[in-house]
Amino acid sequence: MEKELICVNCPMGCRLTAVIENDTVVSVSGNRCPKGKAYAETECIRPERILTTTVRIMGGIHRVLPVISERELPLDRIFEAMEVLRTVQVQAPVAVGDVVVPDILGTGVSIVAARSMEAV
Ligand code: SF4
Repeated sequence: MEKELICVNCPMGCRLTAVIENDTVVSVSGNRCPKGKAYAETECIRPERILTTTVRIMGGIHRVLPVISERELPLDRIFEAMEVLRTVQVQAPVAVGDVVVPDILGTGVSIVAARSMEAV
């Protein structure tokens, strides 16, 4: 089976073709550098995404705090992670990079504050 992809690792946006056999990427073409091959392999077999959302914050200058996963999460765990974050509430002040949820869903990935927020 062949899968067409566009590499998102840089503005070149190379058009990739991955050949998949028995759940394994056996070849990648169209990439101008090794990052494209690695991207196609991950995207075809175990896609991942950075999660960005907000959580509630008490005593801050805004009612919600933007948060981000410190690195990619498995795509099939994103919805579950969002459900966890919907229940989270933090207290101001918060500094950018503060851990909001460590090791979310046992993935080894922490959710951190994407900005600082001072208390009112
Ligand atoms: S394959 Fe390399 S050059 Fe092409 S878009 Fe991906 S990172 Fe950029």
